[in-house]
Amino acid sequence: MQIFAIVVSLAFTAVGLALFIKAIQQILAVVRLGQPAPHRTDRPGARTVTMLKETLGHTRMLQWTKVGAAHWFVFIGFGLLFATLVNAYGQLFDEHFILPIIGHFFLFEWVTEFFAWAMIVAILPFMVYRATRPKERVRGEKGRLYGSTMWQGYFVEWVILTVGICILMLRFFEYALQHVSGDGQQATAFHFPLTFWAGELFTGLTASTLANLIWLVAMLKIVISMTWMIVLGLNPNMGVAWHRFAAFFNIWFKRKADGGTALGGLAPMMVDGKPIDFENIEDLDEDAPMGVGKIEDFAWKGILDFTTCTECGRCQSQCPAWNTEKPLSPKLLITNLRDHAYAKAPYLLADEADRENLPDSVKAEAQRELVGATEGYAWQPSGGAVIDPEVLWDCTNCGACVQQCPVDIEHVDHIIDMRRYQVLIESNFPSELNGLFKGLENKGNPWNMSPNARMDWAKDLDFEVKQVGVEVEDLDEVDWLFWVGCAGAYEDRAKKTTRAVAELLDMAGVDFAVLGDGETCTGDPARRAGNEFVFQQLAMQNAEVFKETKVKKVVSTCAHCFNTLKNEYSQFGVELEVVHHTQLLNRLVREGRLTPVPESSGPKKTLTYHDPCFLGRHNQVYSPPRELLQVIPNAELKEMPRNSERSFCCGAGGARMWMEEKVGERINLNRTTEAVETGADQIAVGCPFCRVMLSDGLTAKQADGSAREEVEVLDVAQLLLASVKREPVQAEPEPGDVTQTPETVSDTAQVGAAAQAHEDVAPVAEPEPAADPEPVAEPEPVADPEPVVEPEPAADPEPVAEPTTERKREPEDDRLF
Ligand code: SF4
Ligand code: SF4
Repeated sequence: MQIFAIVVSLAFTAVGLALFIKAIQQILAVVRLGQPAPHRTDRPGARTVTMLKETLGHTRMLQWTKVGAAHWFVFIGFGLLFATLVNAYGQLFDEHFILPIIGHFFLFEWVTEFFAWAMIVAILPFMVYRATRPKERVRGEKGRLYGSTMWQGYFVEWVILTVGICILMLRFFEYALQHVSGDGQQATAFHFPLTFWAGELFTGLTASTLANLIWLVAMLKIVISMTWMIVLGLNPNMGVAWHRFAAFFNIWFKRKADGGTALGGLAPMMVDGKPIDFENIEDLDEDAPMGVGKIEDFAWKGILDFTTCTECGRCQSQCPAWNTEKPLSPKLLITNLRDHAYAKAPYLLADEADRENLPDSVKAEAQRELVGATEGYAWQPSGGAVIDPEVLWDCTNCGACVQQCPVDIEHVDHIIDMRRYQVLIESNFPSELNGLFKGLENKGNPWNMSPNARMDWAKDLDFEVKQVGVEVEDLDEVDWLFWVGCAGAYEDRAKKTTRAVAELLDMAGVDFAVLGDGETCTGDPARRAGNEFVFQQLAMQNAEVFKETKVKKVVSTCAHCFNTLKNEYSQFGVELEVVHHTQLLNRLVREGRLTPVPESSGPKKTLTYHDPCFLGRHNQVYSPPRELLQVIPNAELKEMPRNSERSFCCGAGGARMWMEEKVGERINLNRTTEAVETGADQIAVGCPFCRVMLSDGLTAKQADGSAREEVEVLDVAQLLLASVKREPVQAEPEPGDVTQTPETVSDTAQVGAAAQAHEDVAPVAEPEPAADPEPVAEPEPVADPEPVVEPEPAADPEPVAEPTTERKREPEDDRLF
């Protein structure tokens, strides 16, 4: 038996190690195919602390407490029990073998036994969980493993279970052997705290039988462990197993050394590891990729991301696109890219001369488009391109995937990089974006409105709103720049938020000024749509204004402007302190400069709060808006089931506001339904885009009778103003509103392509193959980074004669249904 066990164990070990080492070399070679990724090794101390926190502390895993805790035992057990594998090799040659020094050290024995049991107890629920997942596509947490490679998951789980059982069996037999061989000093409950009782059952066996059992189980343990390595060695894209090694590196190399997620600002567009802007674009080779058009255009960190994906599906379970039956799953996006990278790698790694001799399957993989028409299910294509255009353009950039991912995969950066290539090189993007790009290029706002109308929101206010260049020379004369934003200046409902904030600031004695027609779009929608050069042009323009007018402190009512100014403008040479209006208002309430007044009568109102993704997940601002709502008298805050980090998108981010939403349930309706189901009288928001989307959803629900007529969508600032002034606020523009001018966006249909709610889109219960991917209309080329046309000079007092959008409808007609 002993000889047999030694031969079998060593044979498996030789094959296992050889394949495992070969696979590591293969993985390194594939990752190295990626482009340079600078700044991924800065602040090594902080990176190491972050990596230790996230691995040993499981800080990201524990966002799902029960699963995270169970995984922690498996993770720690896997590491600690490596020593038992070494011990098993020793036992093959001497059944009494124990590890030198630590072998009989009681703490080592206790920890080993505890984690062997814990690992078994922890893995069982994982196995049951996996086995009971629905086979078909379903929403939410229940369907998170849909599309994952299930055999790999089962295999890993069985390995953990059986290795754990082998460890315990060996402990039973070790106890019994020590007992019967006369060396009973160690055969005590002290040294075998969790196994002595079972060991007692075998003390009737002879020493020789026990030795044979030890050789047998040691061999089994080694064979199982080495089979695991063989399977890993043969499947370098088996993320469910490889993440045990790759996760340490992926976390260490994450974008933010201090542990933050890859949210907030986007990573700049890189070519050959250098950020590209107007200054150095001329130096680029003609065929230099802008964005990602082929798998090898991703940075090496991107390919490491793909390699590390555990296929846990946390991202998929939270994605608003996937949860409304669209083909985008962040998990499957990543695994499709991973599988393509590993399948194409032999071609990329081969010399030119050798490529002809490669298998046809490899040559075919090398010819696949990265983004294009797919065959089969768009989310897991069986042929055609790797990523379907519908998948690429479905993303709202909400950041739920990045927030959820336990191994710090940077989905949003990868999606935007692919969009950049489609827009800048291929000129291939949803046709609706043409209007957006035109408006931004021609007039500096998405609606192509006249810059002269940017101050219409302030008409008839009973205090003076200082405008830079008119009432004040520069921002040194006041405390804050109030950044109004395009929606805040042109969209009727958002104007009400702008006015409310201005009134509150004035009441609190805050000295502020606005830029008026000196303001232009921050560029957020252009950047999120992949049009990096339009973004850069707008940002440069604003940055120049900021420098000239000495802007240092900015308050913004738009979560997208807030995020862009705060996180993306430093690369244009301006360092700003940027706050969201709810943060500043909260400060003013705490300082006693604004005091909500209780109403003497009237029923208590229920409020619910929708977290804007670009305020919450992208910038971790969760408390200030809630604290403001909680100080409003006679009001009770009732949270939606999906709130804070796990909030659900309104559907407008990632430039989706400007795109049609044709597949599946509308995201805004899904979210509005959740808000309405809280029973709230008022749905509070902190972003004009969210407000449009939820108002639109509410209108649709009220029209079909599934929401009460009294329910309304209001910005937090309006609710605060109402309580401070003890006056009711209006959610919708009233007839004859002085701020409504020809340069006004009143109708939700005008706001953006996505802002039209339809209840009649039936959820897709059983997914059909996406035979016909969403056609991407032939767009106007935007590859040429022409400078943005200067907005009309502020001196020109004439309104633009022919606004390109429809005129507003009367408010009473302002319903879609
Ligand atoms: S950012 Fe949001 S919409 Fe985009 S893939 Fe991630 S979860 Fe889905
Ligand atoms: S990307 Fe992250 S969250 Fe999504 S399946 Fe992979 S490991 Fe899990």
